[in-house]
Amino acid sequence: MTIRHHISDSLLAGYAAGTLPEAFNLIIATHVSVCDDCRAALGAFEALGGAVLDDVAPIAMGHESLSACMARIKSGEGATEPPARPKDPVLPAPLAEYVGGGLDAIRWRPVGMGVKQAILPTDKGASARLLYIPAGQSVPDHSHRGLELTMVLQGAFSDQTDRFARGDVETADDDLEHTPVAEAGEDCICLAVTDAPLKFKGWMPRLAQPFLKI
Ligand SMILES: [Zn+2]
Repeated sequence: MTIRHHISDSLLAGYAAGTLPEAFNLIIATHVSVCDDCRAALGAFEALGGAVLDDVAPIAMGHESLSACMARIKSGEGATEPPARPKDPVLPAPLAEYVGGGLDAIRWRPVGMGVKQAILPTDKGASARLLYIPAGQSVPDHSHRGLELTMVLQGAFSDQTDRFARGDVETADDDLEHTPVAEAGEDCICLAVTDAPLKFKGWMPRLAQPFLKI
């Protein structure tokens, strides 16, 4: 897989620092799991955080913290088996674990024109959804009030800026108004996260927006 569209350094740094909303953490973990370049860049940011921690002046913990911790480890209390990693050809492991299975675990809801979506439960800072766009179908023209990242999981789409295939992440912000069109041949499945509701240009999608929660 050749990935041409990556996660920005500022988002990777935010991920390493643990300051992003859950939805952004999810898409970054998913992309990093299939992208060697971003995994290496993330490793560098994490090393930076590690170096900062090494330099922090220590603060003493409570009396007997260490022995209490060791006693709990020995007792095996709270130990759980790691869950078996679900394997899915479309959903990389972080996403598959998040939805509790493969594509067959997704509860799609139709949003018209054959497009389906599944909103994923995350904290309120941003929202995450899976989008299913039939081959050849377009998503309504929209611009963005905040930051929107879209990662292709299956198939491909194109818009005014470029073509995006599996693994690619499109980063859209206030300045981009676009009409993504799924390529002919294979239905397109994407993970999309946004930190603000999308603004649709047409009146029909705008009317439907409150009901679709997009
Ligand atoms: Zn990447």
